[in-house]
Amino acid sequence: MDKTHRLCLVLGDQLSFDLASLKALDAEHDTVLLVEVMEEASHVAHHPQKIALIFSAMRHFAQALQQRGIRVHYVTLDDPHNSGSVPGELQRWQLLLQPDSLHLTECGDWRLEQSLKTCGLAIQWHTDSRFLCTRSGFSSWAAGKKQLRMEFFYREMRRKSGLLVNGDGSPVGGAWNFDADNRKALPKQVRAPLPMRFTADAITQEVLALVAKNFTEHYGDLGSFDYPVTHADAQALWEYFLDWGLAAFGDYQDAMASDEPFLFHARISAALNIGLLDLRQVCQDVESAYWAQRIPLNAAEGFIRQLIGWREYVRGVYWLKMPDYASGNLFGNSRPLPEFYWTGETQMNCMRQAIGQSLKHAYAHHIQRLMVTGNFALLAGITPNQICDWYLAIYMDAFDWVELPNTLGMVMHADGGYLGSKPYCASGQYIKRMSDYCGNCAYKVSESTTDDACPFNALYWHFLMRHGDLLRSNPRMGMVYKNLDRMTEPKQQALWDRGQTLLARLDAGEWL
Ligand code: SF4
Repeated sequence: MDKTHRLCLVLGDQLSFDLASLKALDAEHDTVLLVEVMEEASHVAHHPQKIALIFSAMRHFAQALQQRGIRVHYVTLDDPHNSGSVPGELQRWQLLLQPDSLHLTECGDWRLEQSLKTCGLAIQWHTDSRFLCTRSGFSSWAAGKKQLRMEFFYREMRRKSGLLVNGDGSPVGGAWNFDADNRKALPKQVRAPLPMRFTADAITQEVLALVAKNFTEHYGDLGSFDYPVTHADAQALWEYFLDWGLAAFGDYQDAMASDEPFLFHARISAALNIGLLDLRQVCQDVESAYWAQRIPLNAAEGFIRQLIGWREYVRGVYWLKMPDYASGNLFGNSRPLPEFYWTGETQMNCMRQAIGQSLKHAYAHHIQRLMVTGNFALLAGITPNQICDWYLAIYMDAFDWVELPNTLGMVMHADGGYLGSKPYCASGQYIKRMSDYCGNCAYKVSESTTDDACPFNALYWHFLMRHGDLLRSNPRMGMVYKNLDRMTEPKQQALWDRGQTLLARLDAGEWL
C-alpha cells in the first residue's frame, strides 16, 4: 500500500468540498477516508430514508472527490472488513496506511467526538467553518450572561454577516424581526407548489437495496425516497424553492394542512446539515431575492433568522452545555413514548397527519414538530430522552447538535428554560387556528371534558395544574394561570379528571 502523508476522515454529515480538514489537501500524497458504519446508522433506529440519504450522498461525494484527482478509500456497510464503528475504522486504516497525521473536522455529535478523542489516536482537529459562529465564539458571547436569548445572538449574527443590515448598522426595514407577520393560517384558495422530486440513480438504488436489507427493524417508509444526494441536485431543489416557495414562506411558515407535508417549506435542512449546500450562499441568495423584489421582507428575514439565528444558536448551546444538557428533566417526566409515535395509529388527526408524513417522508415542518407531536409529548409528560431519540431517529435532518436542544430545550422545556423562556404548551385551539386538522378528527376541539373532547385541551390544563409550582412564577405564564384561576372549582376538577383519564389510558398502552 502507498505511504500517505495525511489521512482525512470525512463523516457522513461533512460532505462539503471546502470542509476545513480538506482545505490543504495534497492530491498526490493525501488520502480521504469515508466509512459507512453500523454504529452510526443504528445507535438510534434512524429512519431508513435518512440512512439511505447519507450513504448515497457519501458515495456520490467520494466519486466527486475521485473525479478531482483525490485518492479516496471508501468502506461500504457490507465490507467484510468493516469494524462497524468510526473509531474502529480509523484505527484500522491508520494501521493499513501508516499516515503521518490524521485529520478530522469537529463532529456534530458529542458522543461520536468523545469516542474519537478517547480511541487512542492522535487526531488533528479542525474547526467546522461551515457555521458562522464557532464553538469558542459562542462561549465568548455567552460568557457572563445570566440568561441567553436567541434574539440578541441573532442580532449579533446579522451584524457580523451584514445580512439585511444597512450601511449604518441598522436592520433593513427598521426592525430585526418580522415574526409577527409570519403566523398566518393557510387560506383555502392558496396552493403550495408541487414538491420537487429526485429519481434514484444506480448508486442510490444500490444503497436503497442495502438499507432495505439491513435495517428491517427501523420504522419509516423507504419506497418514497426522493431527496437530492448530490450538490447539484441540492442546488436544484434550493433554486426551485427560491422561485416557487420562498415568497410565501414568511406568511405561511407556521400553517399546517391535511395531506400537504411540505407547504412553503424548502426541505433543504437535510442537504444543508450534511454539507450539500452552503449556509452563507443560501443566505446571500435569500438577500439577493429580496433586493430584486422577488420576495417580501418578512419571508427573507424569517428564513435568514432560522439559519443564522436559531440554527447557529442551538448549536452553540449544544456544545456549551454538553454532556450535562442531555440529562435535563425539569418536570421529572417518566412516561414512556406511546407506541403510536412509531405507527401513526391514533384517532387524533393532527398527530396522525404529523406522524404519518414523518414516517413516509422523514420530514415534518417546525410547527408540526413543536406544536403537534412535541406539544403532545410535553403535555403528556413523556420522558425527555425517549422523545429526543424519536426526533433524532425519525427526521432526515436530525443530527444531535440540532435535534437535542430543539427537543429537550424548546419542545420539552426540560433544560429549565435555558433555551426558551417558557414552555411551548398549547391546547387544541392553537392547532385549530393554524390547520384544517380538527375538521376531520374523531375528537371535538370545542370540548374539553367529555369523552370525545380533544385530548390536547384537558392535557394542557392538567399540565399547567400539575406544574404550577415551577411555572406560576414565570412572568410569561402569568396570563394562562390567570385564566386557570378564573375557572370554577368544578370546571378545574373536571379538567383534572379528564387529564387523569387520558394519562391513565396512555399508561395502559391504549392509543388515543
Ligand atoms: Fe388534534 Fe384535537 Fe384538533 Fe383532533 S381536535 S385534530 S386531537 S387538536
